[in-house]
Amino acid sequence: MANVTLTDVRKTYAGGFEAIKGISLDVGDGQFCVLVGPSGCGKSTLLRMIAGLETTTSGKIDIGGRVVNEIEPAERDIAMVFQNYALYPHMSVYNNMAYGLRNRRMPEAEIDTRVNEAAKILELGALLQRKPRQLSGGQRQRVAMGRAIVRQPKVFLFDEPLSNLDAKLRIAMRVEIRKLQRRLKTTSIYVTHDQLEAMTLADILVVMNGGQVEQLGNSLDIYQKPATTFVASFIGAPPMNLMPLRDAGGFQAANGDGILGVRPEDLILSGDVPAGGLALDLTVEAIERVGAETYVYGIRSLAGDAPTVSAKPGELPPGEVIVRVPGSSAPGIGQRIRATALRDKLHLFSADGRSRIDL
Ligand code: ATP
Repeated sequence: MANVTLTDVRKTYAGGFEAIKGISLDVGDGQFCVLVGPSGCGKSTLLRMIAGLETTTSGKIDIGGRVVNEIEPAERDIAMVFQNYALYPHMSVYNNMAYGLRNRRMPEAEIDTRVNEAAKILELGALLQRKPRQLSGGQRQRVAMGRAIVRQPKVFLFDEPLSNLDAKLRIAMRVEIRKLQRRLKTTSIYVTHDQLEAMTLADILVVMNGGQVEQLGNSLDIYQKPATTFVASFIGAPPMNLMPLRDAGGFQAANGDGILGVRPEDLILSGDVPAGGLALDLTVEAIERVGAETYVYGIRSLAGDAPTVSAKPGELPPGEVIVRVPGSSAPGIGQRIRATALRDKLHLFSADGRSRIDL
């Protein structure tokens, strides 16, 4: 088991592109850290640098108290699980799991114990003699996990391991990975672009954007207090409604212009206007029923018509707002509705979206 500590780590690819622009991060022993962000933000690059599959241009990578920048991947005491499983097609499940250990010249008896133990944990016992092509996607993913487990590494690195699976299996495997990690207590770093996967798996969530850490912390803290509008719109689905405010819309905390945010689930369809809160008059444009809840898409009335409590008329320009209502009852298309939110459900950001302002 081990801490993973990154200190001002940077990566410039040959050709001059700076993909990682100074990242510092401390993943404690046994913690599950998730790197999440849009395509191209550098999450795979960072993971591959920790694995030693990419060189690190500057900064320090420390695994278990040892700086590993100059250490070969095989010597870093990590095991990586890839999106495409990277299984050997001509080898049985058993041999796929045993291969890395044989390369290390581990005695066959010890290999057999480890493979059987991993197979038991992953419920692969009955499949040990099959070839990868005779397995389902979920089973292949389990073999890839098994191959990582038998090495008993200090750190597991996962690169979008579930993205080839269908939605249902992805959720099932997500739960399995978390249970497995809790059981083995192995420090883990996991890359995904799926914010829901990230939220549900992470002890530490790292939201990346453009080669930098945009926000880092506990999932729920990040959800409740996003530090920037980027994080506010990336974490949570449907995304937070963001509305530009002129003169900060009368919210005393801010000087000058700002951006007001409210999550779809924090808006209530109600005529009552909460003191110091927000009220939006909307015209219903579209309805999406997803079963347990319904998303109501409304267009904010024209400037001057929006009776916000704190914001003066004209301070919220027109635009689309999503309201999430429980169940399947919803207003009709074209209907005028009022959506309100309590003041403590509102988020205020600077006009450039780069900082959060306490209300
Ligand atoms: P995705 O979710 O699409 O895999 P990512 O966040 O993992 O994205 P990376 O694959 O780490 O992103 O890439 C980060 C940036 O570095 C991208 O702009 C990419 O084009 C660039 N990049 C990746 N590999 C190389 C390379 N070998 N040479 C030059 N630039 C690269």
